[in-house]
Amino acid sequence: MSTGVSTEPLPALEVDRVVSQLVGEAAGPTLLCTASLHGNEPAGLRALEKVFARLEAERPPMRGEFIGLVGNLTAVSRGERFVDSDLNRHWSPAKVAALRAHRADALEDTEDLEAGQLLQEIDSAVARARGEVYCLDLHTTSGESPPFATAMDTLRNRRFALGFPVPHVLGLEEHLDHTLLDHLDGEGYITLGFEGGQHDDPRSVDHCEAGIWLALAETGLLIEPDGLPAVAEARERLAAATKGLPQVVEVTHRHGTRDDDGFQMLPGFVSFQTISEGDLLGRNDRGELRAPEGGGILMPLYQRQGDDGFFVIRKFSAFWLTVSSALRHLRIDALLPLLPGVHRDRDRPGTLRIDRRVARFYALEIFHLAGYRKKRIEGDQLVVTRRNE
Ligand SMILES: [Zn+2]
Repeated sequence: MSTGVSTEPLPALEVDRVVSQLVGEAAGPTLLCTASLHGNEPAGLRALEKVFARLEAERPPMRGEFIGLVGNLTAVSRGERFVDSDLNRHWSPAKVAALRAHRADALEDTEDLEAGQLLQEIDSAVARARGEVYCLDLHTTSGESPPFATAMDTLRNRRFALGFPVPHVLGLEEHLDHTLLDHLDGEGYITLGFEGGQHDDPRSVDHCEAGIWLALAETGLLIEPDGLPAVAEARERLAAATKGLPQVVEVTHRHGTRDDDGFQMLPGFVSFQTISEGDLLGRNDRGELRAPEGGGILMPLYQRQGDDGFFVIRKFSAFWLTVSSALRHLRIDALLPLLPGVHRDRDRPGTLRIDRRVARFYALEIFHLAGYRKKRIEGDQLVVTRRNE
């Protein structure tokens, strides 16, 4: 493996990575808004263009900086989710460090190049930030879906997220490795993933647009958000599109697929649709796929690329949100290593190793509530790490 260090700038692509950029007269937070990290998801990009056009026409008073960035330019030009590999799985600490050092061995495929260029834009926006940094990452889904938000469940993210009147999906990040938000969250920024609806549904553009307006309001970039019709319209639009849906849900199951396993989702499933244990959901080469438990379906896969077949979710009670918030304020995590079968990882601060044979009765749930996320299962051990507060 080559470890040669290159000081050459990364080659430029034809389309602009920066959709647009607005700098307010006063200092304030920075809002980074990323769209089309998946090239077959144009809705977020269209929404960014519309919001920038309206901001430039109406010129509401603003502080801080708002910047819109395109994720996978090459895949966007081809209308495909990705060219060689999923750009939203490229953000491991090791990869980010290699990209920052312009190491030649970090540039193995098309998406490495995309990640390198996107990272440069993000890093320079962060370097000139005059306040807190927020990131809103816009996506859409292959199946029909109401808009919803996904957040790494830290208290700071939670405060930001609850300003958006859409269902919040907790725990998705435990099933996805090295996403962009994973990286940005690790850097200490406030992050939110926003899903606008089905890829080619025109309403998905409207939902993403509404999400961006609310992010501009919630971050405080808009100095007088209450007087702006665009913000009021955004709130109404998202509330109407998600009427009757739970405020917070958690992911309880992921069905992973492989390119060669013949996975096919039964047609007609919509995100948040109720399912019962044993319901037939799809098929693969091994036979029928049935719901392992009851709850709701999330992001059923109706496209060729991608390896998340579907997720199962269940309602998360507002009561537990309050409890977990209290537990974190009390820093109850300092007491967790005193529980039987729980040990601190000697090499990694913030990481606990739990003996699943001893701690099976309280394993994952209690660590979730105290602000830990599941990293992996190693034999009889569950490994969890503290979320960045
Ligand atoms: Zn996506």
